[in-house]
Amino acid sequence: MIISIASGKGGTGKTTLAINLALSLEKNVQYLDCDVEEPNGHIFVKPTFDEKKSFGMPIPVVDFDKCDYCGKCGEICEYNAIVVIKQNVLVFPDLCHSCAGCWLVCPQKAISTKDKEVGQLELGNRNGIEFIHGKLNVGESLSPPLIRAVKEKMDPTKTVIIDSPPGTSCPVIEAIKESDFVVLVTEPTPFGFNDLKLAVEMVRKIGLNFGVIINRADVGNRDVHDYCTRENIPILMEINNDRKIAEAYSRGVPIVELYPEYRDKFLALYQDIERRVGA
Ligand code: SF4
Ligand code: SF4
Repeated sequence: MIISIASGKGGTGKTTLAINLALSLEKNVQYLDCDVEEPNGHIFVKPTFDEKKSFGMPIPVVDFDKCDYCGKCGEICEYNAIVVIKQNVLVFPDLCHSCAGCWLVCPQKAISTKDKEVGQLELGNRNGIEFIHGKLNVGESLSPPLIRAVKEKMDPTKTVIIDSPPGTSCPVIEAIKESDFVVLVTEPTPFGFNDLKLAVEMVRKIGLNFGVIINRADVGNRDVHDYCTRENIPILMEINNDRKIAEAYSRGVPIVELYPEYRDKFLALYQDIERRVGA
């Protein structure tokens, strides 16, 4: 079963929930941190990494002995990453999306490729949890290919917990699209409510089964609750603004390790999701 933990905005406690759910299951679990621009699950899980790989994307290299400066590569590139100016072809690697258009269209077969590192993939373990995350290099903006690379490590025989990037844009869709269930984490504030509605619209468009967790449920107003009731969206869990959680977070320790009584709550959450998925 694949469970994604997502949120319409950052700072709702998405990673905390994903980690504690994974740790509560204890075995046969994969935790995939797909928040590749800011992966921080490892800070809490503290896995031992036994494999680190560079992740690169192909960018064009022009062979000027073959090129006749026809301009076709520049015409097809939607990102202005390759430009033909008179008797020269300029490549701008930072703009390239590795779409392959230029080397496929080149009539002279004058374009080969070389990999440009955009991030790293790290694989490790901790107490029966298989931990995998992608780390996008600072300054790189194209996260979906690295998210795909993290997901290629998915083991269908295990329970997979995906920590999605926040928001509702392409990287989120890339992270969650094959999920059996999506948990949308929100908080009962005007910003939380607004971003939850966008996230609900997104998962409904993709056609995914989902529910909501309200974090810091005792702070703010009832708009999120009323909305979920109106829209027939299950509220899977409400977490109050507990000092214990803040303490665990500030010490970089998962809640279920510092306060084992929380483990039962996360196990109940998992069983609820299992029932909803029909697994
Ligand atoms: S398409 Fe090929 S031959 Fe034409 S300008 Fe580009 S690299 Fe040169
Ligand atoms: S691979 Fe695509 S994005 Fe990159 S330079 Fe070629 S056409 Fe442009």
